[in-house]
This record gives sequence, C-alpha cells and structure tokens, in this order.
Amino acid sequence: MKADMRITLLGSGTCVPSLKRSACSVLVQAGRSNIVLDTGPGTLRQLLKAGVSIFDISHVFYSHFHPDHSAELVSLLFATKYPDASRRRFALTLGAGVGFQKLYSGLRSVYGSWIELAPGMLNIIELSTATSDAIDFDDFTIRTSPVAHNAESIAFRITGRGGASVVYSGDTDTCEDLVRLAREADVLICESAMPDGRKVRGHLTPSAAGEIATRAKVDKLVLTHFYPECDTVDVESQCRRTYDGPLLLAEDLMTIELPAARHRLPRQCLNR
Ligand SMILES: [Zn+2]
Ligand SMILES: [Zn+2]
Repeated sequence: MKADMRITLLGSGTCVPSLKRSACSVLVQAGRSNIVLDTGPGTLRQLLKAGVSIFDISHVFYSHFHPDHSAELVSLLFATKYPDASRRRFALTLGAGVGFQKLYSGLRSVYGSWIELAPGMLNIIELSTATSDAIDFDDFTIRTSPVAHNAESIAFRITGRGGASVVYSGDTDTCEDLVRLAREADVLICESAMPDGRKVRGHLTPSAAGEIATRAKVDKLVLTHFYPECDTVDVESQCRRTYDGPLLLAEDLMTIELPAARHRLPRQCLNR
C-alpha cells in the first residue's frame, strides 16, 4: 500500500553544533511534492542522505527566521544556480510568516544575483502571523497558525490528498493556537528544547509538549529540537507525566509513513 505521506526528520537538533543532531528540519513527501520545513545548518546534506536533491524540492516553509531554522536558504538558492541552474525543472515555492519578503530582499541586497533564480522559478509567499492561514497546492493543503516564539513564528499542518496529516510546531512556548492546529492530527512533531525543570521562555519541555499532544488528541507525538541538555535526561519519562499515547523521540533521518485515511482502522480501534 502506497503511503499518503512520508515524513523524514532531517534534523533533530538546534543551533548548537552536533555530530549527532543536525539543526531542526523536516521533509514531508506527499504525492509528487517534496516539502521541507526549515533549513538550518546541515539541512542540505541531510536531504542528500534522505535521497532528495535540492532540485527535487518543491516547497520550503519557514517556521521563523532564527538562523538555526533558516540559515541554509542562502546555500539552497546559491546551489540551485551554480554550476547548472537548468537542473531545476519547476519553480521553487518558499513560504513563511510576515516579514519573509523583507528578509529575502535583505539577502538579495547582500548576495544580489548569486541567489536570484530565473524569472518564474521562485515564488515567495507570506503567510499571516496574526491569524490562521491556509493554501491549497496540488498534492497537499497547508494550514498555519501563529505560535508563541517570535513575531513571525508560525506552525504548520500539512494534509495530504489521502487525508494523512502532520503538524510541525516550529519553536514555540505553550499556546492554544498550536493545540487547535494539531487537533486529531496523525502526527505532531513538537519542539522540546529543554528538559523539565530547565524551561526557557519561548520553548517547551517534554511534559509541556506532552500536555499539548494530550489536549489536541493527536495519534502520535514526536519530540524534537533537543538542546544537548535533553540528551542527559530521560526525556521519555518526563513526557509521560502528561501524555500516554504513541511517542517517538526524534533522531536524525528517522522516517514515518502515513497511509491514506481510507486504509486505516477507526481511531477507537487503534492501540493508543
Ligand atoms: Zn527559534
Ligand atoms: Zn530553534
């Protein structure tokens, strides 16, 4: 049975350089679309390890502009042009919250033609940071919601044409908008930057992420965006204080396949 959606956790880390965890990034493959969520340092190499070339990427969406989530945008555009721009056969769509156009203009003022693609080969979309937003593409629908981190921060919910759904929190603190966006999603990929007891403003801990997953009644929770402090504690048992459903702790290049909704057991039959 062909999966409706295939998810690859390209990176499970942060801005802290790590041989174990590349910066936080997710690849979602739905239909013929290859969608990348965030491109921090290392993402382009992680894509290669996942068997995806930069020329296969159809969409990149940014949760926010912190460099550990966005820095390789420049590398992506530059590598698309040199040495052979003709290798890209279709337009690349980039999307992010309000301010993205300004960010791209700023990068162009520094890098000029080095990061400019041919006419018609780059679409830039700004999504609302004040309220939820949604766009339909051929292979999927993307819904967004503002979250509690930076002014431009948004979370994403991608739904495939067969009904499979994944939510990516980006960076956030606890917020009702994320609970709403994640409602009954198949998978919630949620940041869990610091351990319980060491929470920092604008980020979650394992138990705080678990609480969001429980309230949203998601089918599966994936914790990610682990600062090194998280690798010294028992993240799973911290999350179990608030969440008892299926749980994965992200590792780089971990994959999850989701069948189309019509091929699934009713929710009450699933072993939660
Ligand atoms: Zn951030
Ligand atoms: Zn971050």
